[in-house]
Amino acid sequence: MKLVWDTSPSLAFWFCFLTLFAGALPGAVAYVSKLLVDAVLKASQGQDPALNEYAFQVVALELILVVTVAAFQRGLSTCGDLLRALLSQRVNQMILEKALTLSLSHFEDAKTYDKLSQARRRASSKPLSLVQRTFGLLQNCISLLTYGALLLNFSPWAVVLLLVAGLPSFAVEAAFSGEAFRLFKWQSQETRQRAYLEMLMAREDYVKEVKLFNLGPLLLERFNEIFHRLYQQDRNLTLRRSGWGFVLGLFSTVGLYGAYLWVVYEAVHSRITLGDMTMYLLVFKQGQAAVTASLSAIGLMYEDNLYVSNLYEFLEEPVDAVKGSATEGSRPGDGVRFVGVRFQYPGAKGWALDGVDLHLKPGEKLALVGENGSGKTTLIKLLTRLYEPTEGKVLLDGTPLEEWDITTLRRRVGVIFQDFVRYQFLVGENIGVGDVDNFESEEKWKSAAKKGLSHEFIPELPEGYQTQLGRWFKDGRELSGGQWQKVALSRAFMRDQSDIVVLDEPTSAIDAEAETKIFEYFREATAEQMAILISHRFSTVRMADTIVVLQGGKIIEKGSHEELVELGGRYAELFEMQAKGYR
Ligand code: ADP
Repeated sequence: MKLVWDTSPSLAFWFCFLTLFAGALPGAVAYVSKLLVDAVLKASQGQDPALNEYAFQVVALELILVVTVAAFQRGLSTCGDLLRALLSQRVNQMILEKALTLSLSHFEDAKTYDKLSQARRRASSKPLSLVQRTFGLLQNCISLLTYGALLLNFSPWAVVLLLVAGLPSFAVEAAFSGEAFRLFKWQSQETRQRAYLEMLMAREDYVKEVKLFNLGPLLLERFNEIFHRLYQQDRNLTLRRSGWGFVLGLFSTVGLYGAYLWVVYEAVHSRITLGDMTMYLLVFKQGQAAVTASLSAIGLMYEDNLYVSNLYEFLEEPVDAVKGSATEGSRPGDGVRFVGVRFQYPGAKGWALDGVDLHLKPGEKLALVGENGSGKTTLIKLLTRLYEPTEGKVLLDGTPLEEWDITTLRRRVGVIFQDFVRYQFLVGENIGVGDVDNFESEEKWKSAAKKGLSHEFIPELPEGYQTQLGRWFKDGRELSGGQWQKVALSRAFMRDQSDIVVLDEPTSAIDAEAETKIFEYFREATAEQMAILISHRFSTVRMADTIVVLQGGKIIEKGSHEELVELGGRYAELFEMQAKGYR
């Protein structure tokens, strides 16, 4: 209710107001139809022309009432539609805002991901549904009160009969709505699998491989198989729900016709007027519908409530409090230090980093070398606080990273990962993402593009820097792998104010000559900055001041290219191997 009210107080007010009046009117219509029948009967017996006129007036009154009911119903559904749109936007916004506060490890955890997708799938429609049903219930209850008041003249037992006849249907709703929700939750994993398969078959970035490996039929078969499994369960529930609903609903119908019989019997024996009979029959029929609707609304509200609590469960998912407020280190100019750092991924067994000690001074260029899985990227993730060390500390300017204000920290560190994002934005914006403050600055795009060598090809594109990239949107252009990497590198050059620039294998698809050129620029542009470079190309690695060799999460060698070659250890071995390949 609070959510709906906060979304739009004025619409919520009208919704409430119309509900109350729309609830009271059907009783009035029933009463007027009694007046009408009685008036017609009287008029047809006597000769008094005033009676005729009275009957016509009653018709007019009923017309006015019916038009009013229609107007109120229309108003209600309009308010409902508008509220639904606003509420859905608001709930989606809440879900996305929450998603933005989650840490990387939350996204890597299937359980949290399940909650997120459950919330996104249903929760945006459920809060309004819950509120609509609550108001619907209120409306029906008000109608029932007026019907009850009218019926009381006939017999109090009639009121009891009206209420009791609806109970069996209610029992069915209550029993099955919980089950429907449990099924929904339980199927969540499979529904996501299905959505994933659908994406594999229908998205442009996957289509190449799906076609060439002829994966299509296999994926489609899996997709269908999951559907049929889910469908079996859903069908089972739907059939049982409607079967029981029908059987127990018969009780209500029998009760209703029992009441009809009773009313007709009383009318036949002239204990009530024909007008009364018309009204009671109407009241019974509508009352019955109102009772059934109210009771099933309660059952469905229970179900809605389960979904909404699911949404709140997600929204209240604990996030690591954003700690730290330092905007300056205790020893400015100290650079980056890793002190006895060990790190284990959540749920993983071994150490991804195992006792790393490292010091990087301002202006220093560091290269990380090691086999796949030796911990290079993990080290970068700790440096950027995407994860926190399990043991030991990472310090920037003498202050541990967790004590830094996160925005300041992220501003000071610029990273281009090997799996950088290829945004389906303008090519200029794809460079601009490197610095949100200058996201749209064409001038900055250009100077960064010159250093990242993407300026070589961007002006040739149909719209220059304004060219749309990707295939999802109109006139989108695709770039080659190397061109994309140049765009990503240019992002790094957007961050000329950051103190640390990290390049995690971003040049694998760029030809060796261009790479050397880029790194010359890079050295020049980052003369004052710390730079960390991960690369498998020794021609690039050797340009670093310090080279660190990682193996199994441990630093096994450290020094300049010359020193390490002199040492004749692992680095020298790897270097020799690559050099041999070129000879
Ligand atoms: P590199 O960058 O040197 O190739 P990584 O730092 O990515 O290696 O990986 C180091 C180790 O941590 C590997 O054994 C890898 O399997 C593991 N690892 C990497 N990312 C995750 C993750 N998100 N969850 C669990 N284990 C991970």
